[in-house]
Order: sequence, then structure tokens, then C-alpha cells
Amino acid sequence: MTGSIPSVKLLIGGEFVESTTQDWRDVVNPATQEVLARVPFATAAEVDRAVASAAEAFKTWRKTPIGARARIFLRYQQLIREHMKELAAILTAEQGKTLPDAEGDVFRGLEVVEHAAGIGNLQLGELANNVASGVDTYTLLQPLGVCAGITPFNFPAMIPLWMFPMAIATGNTFVLKPSEQDPMVTMRLCELALEAGVPPGVLNVVHGGPDVVNALCDHPVIKAVSFVGSTRVGTHVYNRASAAGKRVQCMMGAKNHAIVLPDAHKEQSLNAIAGAAFGAAGQRCMALSVVVLVGEAQQWIPDLVAKAKSLKISAGTEPGADLGPLVSCAALDRVSGLIERGVAEGATLELDGRNPQVAGFDKGNFVAPTIFSGVKAEMSIYQEEIFGPVLCVMSAATMDEAIALINANPNGNGTAIFTRSGAAARHFQEEIDIGQVGINVPIPVPVPMFSFTGSRASKLGDLGPYGKQVVQFYTQTKTVTERWFDEDAVGSTVNTTINLK
Ligand code: NAD
Repeated sequence: MTGSIPSVKLLIGGEFVESTTQDWRDVVNPATQEVLARVPFATAAEVDRAVASAAEAFKTWRKTPIGARARIFLRYQQLIREHMKELAAILTAEQGKTLPDAEGDVFRGLEVVEHAAGIGNLQLGELANNVASGVDTYTLLQPLGVCAGITPFNFPAMIPLWMFPMAIATGNTFVLKPSEQDPMVTMRLCELALEAGVPPGVLNVVHGGPDVVNALCDHPVIKAVSFVGSTRVGTHVYNRASAAGKRVQCMMGAKNHAIVLPDAHKEQSLNAIAGAAFGAAGQRCMALSVVVLVGEAQQWIPDLVAKAKSLKISAGTEPGADLGPLVSCAALDRVSGLIERGVAEGATLELDGRNPQVAGFDKGNFVAPTIFSGVKAEMSIYQEEIFGPVLCVMSAATMDEAIALINANPNGNGTAIFTRSGAAARHFQEEIDIGQVGINVPIPVPVPMFSFTGSRASKLGDLGPYGKQVVQFYTQTKTVTERWFDEDAVGSTVNTTINLK
């Protein structure tokens, strides 16, 4: 590339290389519109080279002792800690979220790296002694080969770290396709992974859009694909990569509801809801985008509006900012358009966050906290994932009515209940058909000793992206049944039945 704007590199065979493509996109600071870098849409030949390099590296990496693999991730977690502020600054510049939230993004990924460092305790088979006379059966969890990951814009540190550390720690090699909107922090994390000792070819990165993603789905050498992003693209990736014979997991879009019962701790609950609805400008797959107020809790709308009004909107770099801009001008247009449709379809706009004045950042993609009440299930603002700082307030006479509403929604990523009643919380936990449930916890994202367990329309594939489930995802179980004959064994005869004796 010429000029002063840096180009984002590909990572192939341990080298950060300039793409030869003619197709480039700008990486833009969403608070200022400054172009930070240009990202290539890799050519088909570059994707092939990345996959070939991963295939070559797999030959030796799969035989690398488990302790040696684990120690790389021990070093890696230390490097990430040492570079936390630098990583957060890169992330905020290209993605927009506040610096403390950017550190949270890195930190939630770091927790998965720590988990990968414990792979020696996770990638364990099973053994049954004497399943027949003198016969033992045991399992090996063997790596699959070359795996690929495709990540969204909203967690450019955490979600790549959901993927390649566990894939590599289990003995696979990897090709990552980060979001083209904010690839820079992901690339810095890849540099640190190499510095920690990930060998050349074990981790590769290609950038691009639909063509590159389709090439990864189709590539005959790739054995598994992990995708995080929208439901539309995830469904396409799941179908296309599955048809090519791959193991696939797709974590996708959401519409997360909280139920507030009238016995809930009012102040704590409203604080939690406002933080979870408007934090990261609502650009979290686990953001609370619908709150269902039950019975007398319906009188709390003015208090909720007051909480939302108290949040400070500014560039993520500004001290005290609670939420930053949306990632792009296109996202700003989409969210503003949905707010307009909400008004047109008859919802009550309790708080209008459109066109906020943000001193010093008049070009930023800002939408301030926005609240609709009187939302009905058929409205566009309820049907669609808004992915902005917009909260839909609905009402229900009873908890069971609220549960029925949530279960009728196709999505199943996350939900929460606010109550002081253990019995009500337990009833909710049992009856709600959502994969991740919070009880007085607004964003119940599991820590890495568990797995991310979104369900229904929010997920395709059985196994989650980290925790014990991902060890299953990135390995093939081989079952060995063995018998060793004593030198002086006598008396066996030909046995034509299926039974082991
Ligand atoms: P997206 O689906 O637009 O993009 C995700 C990835 O797919 C990117 O790498 C992108 O380059 C690629 N892509 C985009 N269009 C494509 C196409 N037509 N064909 C093939 N590939 C394509 O998602 P996004 O806007 O980056 O991220 C936001 C979405 O991700 C939201 O829906 C959010 O709920 C979801 N998300 C889900 C989870 C989860 O764990 N369930 C976590 C984070 C984000």
C-alpha cells in the first residue's frame, strides 16, 4: 500500500504479509470517521495458501506434547495482561466502545486463554477396564486438523479468543477470518500469540467478506468451522459448511428479555437493566433489548427513563463515558430507521436518543439511550435485532404470561429475571426455553469452565464455543478396544458371534 494509511496484513505461515488484492476497505474510527487503516479482501490464492500452511503445520503440531501446547498459552495469557491497555486502546479506536469496556472485551477472552493453558486437564479420554475377559476400552480425543473461525465486529478481542486458543491447544491448526470492520486488535492479539510461541502456520489470518467466508466453508482441507455473527450469515455458513462435510457451530443473533417482578429490588434491578441495555451502545449479543414489567413493576418506567438519561454518551476514549458510538454509519442509519418504524407502528417513544449532541465528536455515529413502551410482539422493533441502545418495554399481568411471551420469541441466547422470590426464580429457570439464564444477573455469559449455551434460533450446532463442549467440538473421539495375549495363553477357539468374551 502507498500513502500514510497503514494496511492490515494477512498472517500466513508465520509471516505478516501484504495482500496482493485490489479490493480494500477502510477501517474507520466510529467516533471521528478518521481512517485508521485499510483492510484487504484476500484473493482466493491467498486463502488457499493460508489453508495449505495450516495443513503443513498440522503434521507436526498434532504431535506436539500437550504440556508444550499448554505452556504457550501460559505465556500468552501473561503477554495479554501486559498489553491490556494497548489492546484496549486499539479496540476502542476501531470499534467505539469505552476503554473500560474494551478492557472487559479483552479480559473475557483472556479467561478463555487461561482455560486453554489448562488443556492438560481437559483433553482427557476415558478408560474402562475389563469390558470383556482381558479386554480394555479407552478413548482418545484427537485433533481434527485445519479449523477455521469467522468473527463479528462487536467483540473483536473476546470472540477470536473464544476460537483459536482452544482449537490450537487441542492440537489443531487454524485459519481466522476477523471482522473487516475492526480487525486491528485481533491482529495485535495474533502477533502476541506468535510471540508466546505459537509456531509458524499453526495460526493464520485472512481478511475479507462473503467470498473469503464461502471459500473457507467450501475448502476440502478444512475440517471444522466456528462462526459468531448474525443469524442470516450464520445460517448460510452452517448450511454451506455442513454441506461440505464439516463440523460447524454458529453462535448468532438474539433478542434478550428480562422479566421484572414487582417484588424485585427496584434500584439494583433498574441499574442492572440500564447497564445491560445501553452498555456497548447495545451492540452485544447478550444485550438486554426487551424488558417485561410484571404487574405493579409497570409503574417503574419513569425511573428507568431517569436511569437511561443519566448515562453519558461520548467517544469511548473520554473519561466517564458510559456508551460510545455505533460501529459504522450504516449501523447508525439502520438503528435510526428502526426507531422511526417503532414510532410509525405505534409504540410510545419514552426517550428519544436520536441525534444527540456530543461535544467534540460531531461526526460520531451516536445514538443515545432510547426507550419505547407499549411495544407489541408484531412491531418491527420487537421482531428485529436492533443492535443499538434501544430498549423495548412490554408489560404482562403475570410471570407466566411473560414466560409465554419469551418462549414464543424464536431467539434463545439469554434472558434474566429480577425478583426477591427464590420460588419464582426457580419456576422461571425451569419453564423458560432460553439457553442462558440470569437470576438477578442481567448478562449471564458463562465463564470458560462452562460453555456458551445459546439455543434455538440463536445457535446452530450442538456444541458451544468454549468450556468442556469446545474440547469435544475440536476433537474426534477415537475408541480403542484392546486385548493382549499372554505368551502361554491356551484354549481359545474360533468365535463367530458378535460378543466379546
Ligand atoms: P455479521 O453476520 O454481519 O458478520 C459476521 C462475519 O460474517 C464477519 O466476519 C463478516 O465479514 C462475515 N459476513 C458478513 N456478511 C457475510 C455474507 N453475506 N456471507 C458470508 N460472510 C459474511 O455480524 P456482525 O454485524 O459483525 O455482528 C453482529 C451480530 O453478531 C449480531 O447479530 C449479534 O447478535 C451476533 N453475535 C452473536 C454472538 C453469540 O455468541 N451468539 C456473539 C456476538 C455477536
